[in-house]
Amino acid sequence: MPRIRRTLTALAPLLLAAGLAAPAQADGAAAAPAPAAATAAWPAPAPVLTRVATGDPVLFITIDDGWGTEDAAGAQRLLIERRIPASLFLLPDAYERDRDYYRTLLAHSPARVENHTVTHRDMTTLTEAEQRGEICGARDRQLAAFGDSPQLFRPAGGQTYQWPYYNDATRTAATACGARTVITWTHDLTTWGAWSPPVPALSAGDIVLLHMGPQLEGDLRRVLAAADAAGLSPARLRDYTRGAS
Ligand SMILES: [Zn+2]
Repeated sequence: MPRIRRTLTALAPLLLAAGLAAPAQADGAAAAPAPAAATAAWPAPAPVLTRVATGDPVLFITIDDGWGTEDAAGAQRLLIERRIPASLFLLPDAYERDRDYYRTLLAHSPARVENHTVTHRDMTTLTEAEQRGEICGARDRQLAAFGDSPQLFRPAGGQTYQWPYYNDATRTAATACGARTVITWTHDLTTWGAWSPPVPALSAGDIVLLHMGPQLEGDLRRVLAAADAAGLSPARLRDYTRGAS
């Protein structure tokens, strides 16, 4: 115990410097070069994952946005019957259009809702305060709708879908709003219109991006077949992102 106390005492000036430096940086007032400790972001930036480093035979299915449930009853049945622990990165306005669809899904499958902002704006066009408004606002609405806080954050493509969808401020805003990891994806396998992207050979730890809508059942079946071929089972991202760095 004394050793821990000594370590904390030694760290205190660094933490204090980081804490004091943050407002000055946010206001753009820190003109003079700052010592290394004072440039530390606060709160700590959330790590960004495009895939999960794991030796387990698992992959991760994520489903974005949430529009189009009226034509997605088959996808709901499949998610429930196969007990797929999908991570649903939903927009509040989308799930509020059809809350029963998602409540049924959450009650009868291991799927969970995660954070995808309030308005789907491109984070890189926003200040850190605006980004916090988007991420914390989505968290608060989700808590009110489902009684569960999101733990993961996926930035949205805005209107132009120009990568990257996030910057350093996004990572600290995510932490400030309770999301411990920023999640992107390994493969976007969403069918748009008549075009389905070819499904590659899948590997352990891959994160697959799909979207809600009438095409979702077919997309899920294609991904599940490829997962079976690779000997992989869907697992829940929340369970594999605790302590990620
Ligand atoms: Zn989206």
